[in-house]
Amino acid sequence: MPPRLPEALEKKLTARLRYYEDLGIHHFYKDHAVRASATDAITATSVASQPPAAASTISYEESPLPKPTPRTNPVAPVSSLASSAAAPTPAFPARAAGPSLFDAVNKIPGDTLLKIREDLGDCTRCKLHKTRKNIVFADGNPKAELIFVGEGPGADEDAQGLPFVGRAGKLLNQMIEAMGLRRQDVYICNVVKCRPPENRLPERDEIEKCSPFLLRQLDTIAPKVIVCLGACAAQTLLETNRGISQFRGQWLDFRGHKLMATYHPAYLLRNPSAKTEVWKDLQKVMAVLGLEVKKGKPA
Ligand code: URA
Repeated sequence: MPPRLPEALEKKLTARLRYYEDLGIHHFYKDHAVRASATDAITATSVASQPPAAASTISYEESPLPKPTPRTNPVAPVSSLASSAAAPTPAFPARAAGPSLFDAVNKIPGDTLLKIREDLGDCTRCKLHKTRKNIVFADGNPKAELIFVGEGPGADEDAQGLPFVGRAGKLLNQMIEAMGLRRQDVYICNVVKCRPPENRLPERDEIEKCSPFLLRQLDTIAPKVIVCLGACAAQTLLETNRGISQFRGQWLDFRGHKLMATYHPAYLLRNPSAKTEVWKDLQKVMAVLGLEVKKGKPA
C-alpha cells in the first residue's frame, strides 16, 4: 500500500480535486487499478488540455466514443426535443465501463415515495451510515414537473435531514425563484442520501447502493425535466465518465425524461461568472416547462 499523505495535504488535494470535478474535469482517479479493466478503452487524447494533475493521481481513462444507449423506455431522439432546436445535437455521453445501474431496472408498478422511504428504512447498506446524522431523502413536491438532483448531503443537510439547506442550497433556492418557481414546486434530491465524510465525493459502491432508491424516486415522480446539478449527478444518471462541460446545457434522455446537466451551485459560489451559463441552461428548462423565459439576467 502506498504511504498515506499527511492529513492537511490530503485535505488540500481533495478540495482541489472537487474543484476540478465541479469544473467538469473528472479524470483523476484514486483507484485507477480497480477501475481499469482489460476492456476499458484508455485514451489520452485530451490529457494535454487538462491542467496538471496532482502528483499521485495522473491516470486518465474515458470510455469509447458514443455508442447508442439502449433504454427501457425509448423516447424521441435528443435531437427532436422541442427546445433543443438552437442547440447542437449532442452525441450521448459515452458510457462508463461496467454494468448499467439503471437500464435493466423496470419501473415498479404502483410505487410511491412513501414505499420507497419505508424500503430505505434506517439504511445501513453502505459505509456512509456509520458517520451520518440523518438520512436526507428529498424535499419538495411529489408531483413536481422538475427534479433537481445533487451530489450528496453536506454538514447542514446531514444536521437537518433536508437537501440543499446550506449555502449552496440558498443559491439553489434563488435559482428556482429566478425561474418563476418556489422551492415547494420542485423536487430536490441527491445521488447519495447520507453525507460523505469531509464532503468527499460519493464512492462507486455508495452510489451503487443508493441509486436504486433515487431511480425509484425519479420513476415515481416522472417529471418532465430532471436537472443534474454538477458532475456527480450527471455522470451517475448518464452513466458516463465524461466531464460535465462536454454535455452541460444539452438535452439528454434519462429513461424517457428530458435531462439537463448544469453546474452545481457550490461551484457557482466559487465561480460566480459561471452563473451566466447556468442561467442559459435553466432558461431552456423553463421553455420546456412552459414558464415565461425573460431575456437577460434574472432579476
Ligand atoms: N450539495 C449537494 O449536492 N446536495 C445537497 O443536498 C447539498 C449540497
